[in-house]
Amino acid sequence: MPRRHRRESHDDDFLDNIERLKTGFRRRETKRGNTYVVQPISESRAVKEYRCPGCQLVVSIGVAHVVAWQEDSIMGADQAVADRRHWHTHCWRIF
Ligand SMILES: [Zn+2]
Repeated sequence: MPRRHRRESHDDDFLDNIERLKTGFRRRETKRGNTYVVQPISESRAVKEYRCPGCQLVVSIGVAHVVAWQEDSIMGADQAVADRRHWHTHCWRIF
């Protein structure tokens, strides 16, 4: 049996939950026949500006939004993640 370094404590579970809350849940969405992985970004984690591909405007720092990439890209999963895009939540919804 390999040694387990992870402590079995309530503290760890608590930290896991905090981390999950901060990052939000990943989900899958199908749009226009393609499957995307969608990762919500909370306000506190939005620390850079991005260009939204939906409206071509800036996703400002401190604005909760989503990151999405195509899960079934013919370029492969790694390339798809590298090509991920940050969208306004509204723009992604109507995409
Ligand atoms: Zn937008």
